[in-house]
Amino acid sequence: MIEIKDLRAGIAGKEILKGLNLTINKGEVHAVMGPNGAGKSTLSQVIAGNPAYEVISGDILFQGESILGMAPHERAREGIFLGFQYPVEVPGVTNIYLLKNALNTILEHRGLQQLDAFEFNDYLKEQMAKVNMPYDLIKRQVNTGFSGGEKKRNEILQLLVLQPLLAILDETDSGLDIDALKTVAGGVEQFRSAENGVLLVTHYQRLLDFIPPDFVHVLMDGQIVKSGDGKLALELEKLGYDWIRQEQAEA
Ligand code: ADP
Ligand code: MG
Repeated sequence: MIEIKDLRAGIAGKEILKGLNLTINKGEVHAVMGPNGAGKSTLSQVIAGNPAYEVISGDILFQGESILGMAPHERAREGIFLGFQYPVEVPGVTNIYLLKNALNTILEHRGLQQLDAFEFNDYLKEQMAKVNMPYDLIKRQVNTGFSGGEKKRNEILQLLVLQPLLAILDETDSGLDIDALKTVAGGVEQFRSAENGVLLVTHYQRLLDFIPPDFVHVLMDGQIVKSGDGKLALELEKLGYDWIRQEQAEA
């Protein structure tokens, strides 16, 4: 689904990703963990196409084709979704308007029938039920005045409504209480299928208790320095990152 090849990228003249390789196949959930400032959000933003970041070299192939020349909305239309670490407030645009237009734009791009207002409402209610989203939040302006937990829940609602092929979730667990965490994780589990892929950026093992990953990667100093299965996340929780730094130094 996505193949990241020897990616070097940065922001404001500073190189952050220093030769990163990562492949995600259909049906796989990959967790990326790593210390603060390692480049996890940079990786997420670069895949989504945030123009503030500069790709220096390397490539990102999505379904076999390079996406580096594509604008963020084109990548989104192709099926790449980014759930932000810090969701953006969009005053003046209602949540329901954003979701309906985003979904219909994607359906049109895929050559599928768009949903009318009634069909969309039924579909939306189904998705909202999956994340216990109260209806009044859907009528409000996007994320405006939402609590931290409501914003994260709203990111997962967008994910469920838009049904992307690749979902990148950047610390969707941060700032959530345990009930909200379970709801958010439950939404991701309902999204997860043999047809899509998930890249979960997280600091904490606790999210992975609810979303068992197929692979866990450690991102340090702009590279993936270690990969494993779910057990690696448990080791990181217990031991931190120092032992990996040591392994690196000895190698
Ligand atoms: P992570 O998500 O792993 O905590 P980030 O990708 O957010 O790490 O950040 C990686 C590094 O890039 C950090 O050292 C951070 O300070 C730096 N960085 C991020 N954004 C900017 C920016 N706009 N200007 C300069 N440096 C930045
Ligand atoms: Mg981050």
